[in-house]
Formats: sequence, structure tokens, C-alpha cells
Amino acid sequence: MKIISTIKEIRETLKAAAPKNIGPSCQTGSVGLIPTMGALHRGHLSLIEKSVNENDITVVSIFVNPTQFGANEDFDKYPRTLEADAEICEKAGVDYIFAPNASEMYGDTRNTTLICPPYNDVDKLCGKSRPGHFDGVATVVGKLFNIVKPDRAYFGKKDAQQLFIIKKMVRDLNFDLNIVPCPIVRETDGLALSSRNTYLTPESRKNALKISAALRKVHELFISGINDYNTLYDTVLAYLDAEEIEYFEIVGAEYFEIYENTDIIKPNSIALIAAKIDGVRLIDNVDLE
Ligand code: AMP
Repeated sequence: MKIISTIKEIRETLKAAAPKNIGPSCQTGSVGLIPTMGALHRGHLSLIEKSVNENDITVVSIFVNPTQFGANEDFDKYPRTLEADAEICEKAGVDYIFAPNASEMYGDTRNTTLICPPYNDVDKLCGKSRPGHFDGVATVVGKLFNIVKPDRAYFGKKDAQQLFIIKKMVRDLNFDLNIVPCPIVRETDGLALSSRNTYLTPESRKNALKISAALRKVHELFISGINDYNTLYDTVLAYLDAEEIEYFEIVGAEYFEIYENTDIIKPNSIALIAAKIDGVRLIDNVDLE
């Protein structure tokens, strides 16, 4: 496994290692990409393992992307653990880590061309409280697609709105690759794995379990036939204080349209929570099928 930090080198390396379409007898060289911000855990690892199984070459990008953080967010304190990440990747059979710095990726972050997903898709859920966040995400992912030119890119359902926006960007801008959605990996007690869980004290970690517990209950009620938004929202309020909840929303899985509080929820929906637990912002969701 090799760690590469420049765009020129990753491009040249992949050109040599993954020759594509150069003759009928040489169609191999499929590339899988897992975009990450590092501080890798079993959630990331599940995406990596899937890519290693499905592709000839797997590239993990590790880049704490400044353009997706707001001014008062945790960009500076976000965990950076390249050495431990490299060990995890090496063991999992990753071929290349692409770990550029911000000036390699952007030059000047304040004067760069951005990919801006439609307002309709970003003016809700996480995009509402994090203005500009999904412009940053779409931009960095679009750049990674152009740099790595993967055949498949792997994204976790943990970040459901991100996955929706990336799938839409790929369709709208005609990127030539497949997006592979991957299930949420949880601790045995239900907590969704996240690099931000490292901010939790043992006490606040216990509090954080309320999020997955609330979603489990919503799922249980939904499959038992309780499908009105208001009852499901009241259920969430039995677990989390109103002040802790940034949002509880239910959306259609295909278009991410938000259900109103008088609506009856149909199958193929997603229930999502963002909550601030002892100052740590966490997100989680569950499919309502
Ligand atoms: P991040 O490093 O937080 O930007 O995440 C990189 C990728 O890993 C994204 O596609 C996330 O959705 C995915 N991911 C993060 N946590 C989990 C998890 N608990 N289960 C599955 N995928 C995850």
C-alpha cells in the first residue's frame, strides 16, 4: 500500500496500475474509491472491505475538507490519525491512500469553483443548519471523482442526505461511475459509529444512545402499522428532549421530499435525527420500508 499526497502522482499511478479499455483482452483494472475524512472506524472499514471485494484496485481518500465546515464548526479539532488509518487500510487490502493537503486540493479555498447542489435539496435537514456544507461536500467529491476516475464509489447510508445529494450530482453532471450505498455500522448497543463519537465522554455516550433507541422505536411502530408523522414524532420526544433535537424528519427515500406533520408515511421512507448531545452534534437514521 502506498500513501500519495499529490494529484499528479495519484493520476499517474492509477493510469499505470489500472489500464482500462486498451483492448478486448485487457478489460481489468476497475477502481473503487472510498472518500473519507479519516479517523477511520468499522463504519469506514465496511465500505473499504466492499470495495476491496468488488474492484481490482481500492483507493481511500483521507482529507478533512475545509470547504464543508462552517466558520464555527469543528474543522480544527476534527481528529487526524493518518498513521492509525494507514494501518487499518493496509490490513484491509487497500492499494492507495490519497491524502492531499488543502492547498494541493484547492489552491485558495476562498477563490475556488464550487459545485452547488440544488437549493431545494440542501435547504433542509443538515443543509439547513450547516449552510454551504453540501456545496463543500459535492465539490470535494466531484474533484475526487475527476482525480481518481473510479468505476465505483462507496458511501455510507449513515449520511443519508449526503448520499442522496451525491447520487443526484452523479446523474445531473453525468459522472461515469456507480455509487454504492452501504448500510450503517453500529456498536452492539446501537450507537452509529462516527469519527465524532470520540468527542463524547462516557456519560454523554450513554445519552447519545437515546438517538438510535428512538429510531429503533420509530421503526418498530412503523412496521406494526403506526404510520402517522405526529405519533412517530411524539415517540422521539419520549426519548430526546426537544432542546436536544436539531431535527426529526421523515423523507421519501427516492426524492428526499419531507413529510408534513399531518401526513401518513408510506413505505420507502427514511426517518432521520440530528441531535446535540452534551454539545456534540450527531446524526442517525433508519429506513422505513
Ligand atoms: P466521513 O469520514 O465521516 O466523511 O465518512 C466517510 C464515509 O464513511 C461516508 O460515506 C460515511 O457515510 C461513511 N460512514 C461513516 N460512518 C459510518 C457508519 N457508521 N456506517 C456506515 N458508513 C459510515
